[in-house]
Amino acid sequence: MRGISAFGAGVALWLATATAGMTAPSLTVLCGVDEVWCAAMQKAYEAETGLEIAMTRRSTGDILNQIRAEKDAPTIDVWWGGTGDTHLQAGSENLLEPYQPAHGRDMLPWAQNFFAMSGGRSAGIYAGALGFAYNADLLRAAKLPAPTCWKDLADIAYRGRIQSGNPNSSGTAFTTLATLVQLFGEDEAFRYLAALNRNIERYTASGSAPVKAAARGEVLIGISFMHDAVTQKQAGSPLVIVAPCEGTGYEIGAVSIVRGARHVEAAKRFVDFALSPEGQATGAAAGQNQVPSNSMASLPLAAPDISLIKMVDYDFATFGTPEERHRLLKRFDAVLSATN
Ligand code: PLP
Repeated sequence: MRGISAFGAGVALWLATATAGMTAPSLTVLCGVDEVWCAAMQKAYEAETGLEIAMTRRSTGDILNQIRAEKDAPTIDVWWGGTGDTHLQAGSENLLEPYQPAHGRDMLPWAQNFFAMSGGRSAGIYAGALGFAYNADLLRAAKLPAPTCWKDLADIAYRGRIQSGNPNSSGTAFTTLATLVQLFGEDEAFRYLAALNRNIERYTASGSAPVKAAARGEVLIGISFMHDAVTQKQAGSPLVIVAPCEGTGYEIGAVSIVRGARHVEAAKRFVDFALSPEGQATGAAAGQNQVPSNSMASLPLAAPDISLIKMVDYDFATFGTPEERHRLLKRFDAVLSATN
């Protein structure tokens, strides 16, 4: 009996010590940017605050679905990164907590407008233009013409040679869908998507996967954000990056606190850090090429100059509504099943 008690006490002591050694994360973050930046940001925030955070990378649409599914018992405190219209959709569904960040006044005008549009629930952290990139070695070997416009991508010459994200999961691909609707009008955009579908080798879950595949020579053309293609080109791949001749759309990447977050104070601290020049510098340090939203942050040297790109006046108010998202995704899926 005494032996058993001693054993029980030993186990209790061991459990207590083991639990004390394991610090529970003080903040849980879903990260919508590239894996490399997620890891760099986690390291920088932990070093800055001494707090431990749990950070997981997911595509933007998947993050929205998780936050929706957990709305009565959220496990996530902060949603950092990923396309802003999806953050706006979450805000319209009352899934986010308003917060006035410490660096609000230093934000560039487009980020100030975005914050106002979100009703103070989401802050812009970066901007970047959409485009596509092709592998110059593969293009030369296949003796194909260089595509310069969205409409070129529907040419039969590129059959099975293009990758794009799936807009159901990828914020990049939802931005592509909304951009084409704004450029061509909805019916024309869906006729174009049906024609493009015949050339698509694969719809990827993540939005940067297409240009990464083009960089590795696995596919000729990838549709993604131009800054993601720049990162691949800097790593030495033979990519040619195209700002489509008809014009293109852009994203404002955002950060938001989840409504009902369990660690609200730590979440606010994270948002402040994400908007500070130091927090934003973690992007360039991790090889990212978006334009930062804080006017005091330095621009990555190779960031595409968005003022030189022909850009649609992206209608975040319309494409940031859950109804529009639902309607466009349904029509997209219908076009795919009709043309596959
Ligand atoms: N990676 C980078 C560098 C981005 O700028 C963005 C958009 O905000 C994403 C990823 C979005 O990823 P996904 O299209 O997989 O949602």
